Amino acid sequence: MTSGAKSKAPVKGKVLKAFGNLLQVEFEGDVRQGEVGFVELPDTSLKGEVIEVAGNEVKLQVFEDTRGVALNTPVTFTGDLLEAELGPGLIQTIFDGLQNRLEVVAETSGYFLPRGVYVPAIDREVEWEYVPVAKVGDTLMRGETLGTTLEGRFTHHIMVPFSFFGKVTLTWVIEPGKYTIETVVAKGTSETGEELSFTMLQKWPIKMGLFEGERIKPTKMMDTGSRILDTQVPIMKGGTFCTPGPFGAGKTVLQHHLSKYSSVDLVVLVACGERAGEVVEILREFPHLIDPHTKEPLITRTCIICNTSSMPVSARESSIYMGITIAEYYRQMGLDVLLLADSTSRWAQALREMSGRLEEIPGEEAFPAYLASRIASFYERGGVVSLADGRQGSITICGAVSPAGGSFEEPVTQATLAVVGAFCGLSKARSDARRYPSIDPLISWSKYVGDVAKLLESDAPGWGEGVARASYFLREGTEIGKRMEVVGEEGVSLDDLTIHLKGELYDFCYLQQNAFDPVDAYCPLDRQIPLFRLINHIFETKFDFPNRDRAREFFLMLQSKIKTMNSTEYQTDEYKKLFAEIEEYIESARKL
Ligand code: ADP
Ligand code: MG
Repeated sequence: MTSGAKSKAPVKGKVLKAFGNLLQVEFEGDVRQGEVGFVELPDTSLKGEVIEVAGNEVKLQVFEDTRGVALNTPVTFTGDLLEAELGPGLIQTIFDGLQNRLEVVAETSGYFLPRGVYVPAIDREVEWEYVPVAKVGDTLMRGETLGTTLEGRFTHHIMVPFSFFGKVTLTWVIEPGKYTIETVVAKGTSETGEELSFTMLQKWPIKMGLFEGERIKPTKMMDTGSRILDTQVPIMKGGTFCTPGPFGAGKTVLQHHLSKYSSVDLVVLVACGERAGEVVEILREFPHLIDPHTKEPLITRTCIICNTSSMPVSARESSIYMGITIAEYYRQMGLDVLLLADSTSRWAQALREMSGRLEEIPGEEAFPAYLASRIASFYERGGVVSLADGRQGSITICGAVSPAGGSFEEPVTQATLAVVGAFCGLSKARSDARRYPSIDPLISWSKYVGDVAKLLESDAPGWGEGVARASYFLREGTEIGKRMEVVGEEGVSLDDLTIHLKGELYDFCYLQQNAFDPVDAYCPLDRQIPLFRLINHIFETKFDFPNRDRAREFFLMLQSKIKTMNSTEYQTDEYKKLFAEIEEYIESARKL
């Protein structure tokens, strides 16, 4: 045993009723809510989770097709909650919602496990170079480091299991060397005199938050390489945000952008209920992409959980919890983790479906009444931890929301908006107009604007005022644009037209960014800052145009020059030349 938590003897039961993959099971003994049970069929056994206990009957949600299950089919309850396996070997791996390693079966069954087959999450054969850190006689608590091993480029801390509460004094530690995750690497005695032994593998129930240390406020910005996000809707490491948008608006493209370019150590990508084709695309694309921060393959900082729309709905619910649990485990090592969930609406649909089968009283749009609290408790698992030795780790959460019909006035979007720190609303109007990323800057908001302005003050003096100015031109410019639609261009003054053109320039040259342009796709902060300064210079310049045509012509030309610069490799001679040319061009228009 790897910790102080004891498993009880398995309890036997038998099936009374089946409604789809929800089974009513009668049992003798002691079964808990959330416990895992196996339905024993002659040729296979199917995994399920207890979702309701009443007297000596439970409702068991089976994660797979239940064909063949009949009256009195035996069920074995394991005594364990639905758990994640935690240890070295999670990074660079692709799991399904129950932590089956999809790569293992990919070649033979094309990403779909045959029914009743479960693959261990972490390879039992691989040997890891283990370096003990804690010594005999040391007294440790949960989460403290026993030793380390190198997982890719990360120092993976082997920690006292989080399921162990209290103190353990080590009585034996292994020599440095190569061991599998099941080798005992340390032994100790608990305060109550219990003998404990530890391996590199530990388990944690996925529906419970894993957290040890002090919860502190976010202190660092997450640079995303997306100008509209970093400038208009900035995100702090340890913060939460959501990206709701109608079908085809660009949620998945945005999530992929974030997974590639965000300035974090590790990305956990949960593809939840989305089209299988998109997931296969990620799996094909990822191994070939290079992390712009470290120049290493991106996959070396990524863990993917995927549960596509063609996999069972019930495992979809667990995929989100699986992802956040893995993120929490690495946060405890002092890493900055980004968790991307695409999409939380599909997850909410799974909750709705299960609630319907349980015949619970439905809330708004037939979602269960506890939808909002489930969403809140998911986002609450994000945040920053300050560890005992002063290191910090964080989880930033980004949830895509795909509201039916694209209206944000629906329960999942509304419940999410109530708890997140930033809202990036994707709009159909913008995506139809090919204004990508189609985040609508006029409806989006971030509670981190002030924090980020403070952080950037030394590298980019006046950043905060710049953002306020940009927002003004955007809002005013849009209003004037609407007026012009009604009264025509002649109906507004030349000054108003100029405000409109400045707003449009900001949109076209700064907020918009082509995800498929090799240079423009990624615009890190050090590149954003001079461009933003240039844009603000344009905002502040009082142009002296003789007429409307000249104003239009000038901004059109300026736009094309800046766009060319945006697609030019940063700080090259070519880039510098373009930048100087643009400044000169702006100067020339003052004198017109
Ligand atoms: P959603 O996930 O919201 O349904 P997608 O992310 O799949 O939508 O985007 C749909 C299409 O929109 C993409 O295939 C792509 O052609 C286009 N698109 C979205 N975002 C961008 C972007 N930033 N740059 C260029 N094209 C984009
Ligand atoms: Mg999508």
